[in-house]
Amino acid sequence: MNGFKFFWRTSKVIQDHPTACIALLLTTASGGSLLAISEHRPFQVAHADVGQADSKKKKVVILGTGWGGTSFLKNLNHPSYEVQVISPRNYFAFTPLLPSVTNGTVEARSVVEPIRNIAKKKRFDTQFREAECLRIDAANKKVLCRSSQDTNLGGEENFSVDYDYLIIAVGARSNTFNTPGVEENCHFLKEVEDAQRIRRTVIDCFERACIPSISEEERKRLLHFVIVGGGPTGVEFAAELHDFVTDDLASLYPSLKDHVKITLLEAADHILNMFDKRITVFAEQKFRRDGINLRTGSMVTKVTNKEITTKERATGEINSTKYGMIVWSTGIGTRPVITNFMKEIGQGNRRVLATDEWLRVEGMENVYAVGDCATINQRSVMEDITAIFSKADKNKTGKLALNDFKDVIKDICERYPQVEIHMKEKQLKGFTALLQNSQSNSKNEVIDIELFKNALSEVDTQMKNLPATAQVASQQGVYLSKCFNRMEECEANPEGPLRFRGTGRHRFHPFRYKHLGQFAPLGGEQTAAQLPGDWVSIGYSSQWLWYSVYASKQVSWRTRTLVVSDWARRFIFGRDSSRI
Ligand code: FAD
Ligand code: MG
Repeated sequence: MNGFKFFWRTSKVIQDHPTACIALLLTTASGGSLLAISEHRPFQVAHADVGQADSKKKKVVILGTGWGGTSFLKNLNHPSYEVQVISPRNYFAFTPLLPSVTNGTVEARSVVEPIRNIAKKKRFDTQFREAECLRIDAANKKVLCRSSQDTNLGGEENFSVDYDYLIIAVGARSNTFNTPGVEENCHFLKEVEDAQRIRRTVIDCFERACIPSISEEERKRLLHFVIVGGGPTGVEFAAELHDFVTDDLASLYPSLKDHVKITLLEAADHILNMFDKRITVFAEQKFRRDGINLRTGSMVTKVTNKEITTKERATGEINSTKYGMIVWSTGIGTRPVITNFMKEIGQGNRRVLATDEWLRVEGMENVYAVGDCATINQRSVMEDITAIFSKADKNKTGKLALNDFKDVIKDICERYPQVEIHMKEKQLKGFTALLQNSQSNSKNEVIDIELFKNALSEVDTQMKNLPATAQVASQQGVYLSKCFNRMEECEANPEGPLRFRGTGRHRFHPFRYKHLGQFAPLGGEQTAAQLPGDWVSIGYSSQWLWYSVYASKQVSWRTRTLVVSDWARRFIFGRDSSRI
């Protein structure tokens, strides 16, 4: 009872003075005190079971508790829904901090938020089922699922859930490109458990290398860490590992420090290809200075339990190297449940599930997909050019005066964002400038369909797929939840852009991604930041920007406090090398 009173009082103080309390908590070096508070939370009364809930409410099923699924759930607030969330993990994971979990800069529990903490705050009925969706039966509006608890608790349970609306946010899996031996011998860095396993394996390698009967050659093998993939995740992991070894392990294992080797393999000519050239150059130079063995143009062809084989792209030379641990981080592939679903709905020849610009799965009425599992199939201007022309040509003369475009310009730019990007690229001010540009030699203010096609012939080259990032997935989740929150009022009051192929207007504005920039932490308290407008900053100051952005992006004050206190603990005491 006393414990309960203490909790009640403490939480009251936190509610009344949140900023002061957070400040106080942040100054304590350990996150322990806050953990203790949250663990003593009184038991919450469960919501009514969905089975008995209001039958007039629309059933929304969300598959996945990652960036897409969680941001949708957090922002959905219309009381006309009842929601079931299905995911094999009962928490949200802040993936950008997973590389920091691999060496204990941040603890695993600091980067996760139980999905039930988020669900219990909803105004409508929200249920969570810890299960994996095995099949999406769109014809019968059902998903078939299998429980995913430890099978020692009893056998697997299969069940199905009906939906009115389905939100697919199952993310992607690691892609091995069918390279032999990768699945069996490499670590991946996708889930929290992966990061924990990597942390234990690194310590294992060091401890085993200390066993006196181990040969010198074997010791070298154990302490050779290989990272495959020079994208942001591989690079950040290599940097974190290097920091862990030099800052912490070198003093704990002084006899081993000269045996450690970190190799980063990249098949392309440079690492961090998606970043500005200045960042790539800086990162490569820094890694070489730090003694990281950076090998670009090197493709992995085979992995066995002790050896990794590569082929040099330029020379065709084959090399085999012994290793202690490999982390494979070369990109993502489609999950089997999505591959099967794609076959069923006639998208079998595609690589990723396609949605329209409103995030609806193509050809489906009530199924939506967000995040890494889907891609937006942006409509090309050339496909619709006749329809666009005839919408502008109101008096149906087959000719357009520039003035005729005034009414449809906004809609064209909204429906086909590549038009705006193209104009920006060519530094053309406005749509009429684009049209005039194509007939610059003539004074003619009237254009026909051929001239129109000519003017727009290049714009489709500006169509790009969105990157598979947390930023995209969470913006899509927020966008979709806003559409759902306004679904009913917008049915009667359409305000979206003009339909060029059909009649009337779309109910909602299409999804538009807003790029906020990206980071590449490079170790040694240095980070490269590429912000919108090609603003590049590299060094210690960007590291502080990185700290503040990642602290602010946490999904709850609980995880924010834990993460910040972990950083503080690392500064004061270093990283913990216990193998637990
Ligand atoms: P996820 O977040 O992967 O979530 C998928 C969810 O679906 C999970 O809960 C999973 O358990 C669940 N699921 C899987 N299968 C099923 C099934 N059959 N049925 C039901 N549920 C299922 N992006 C950035 O923008 N910035 C970064 O700094 C960054 N760093 C990263 C670092 C690492 C180490 C990794 C791995 C990724 C990083 N990303 C980053 C990418 C980002 O994490 C992904 O783009 C993002 O997680 C995609 O969100 P999502 O919701 O599509 O999928
Ligand atoms: Mg998700």
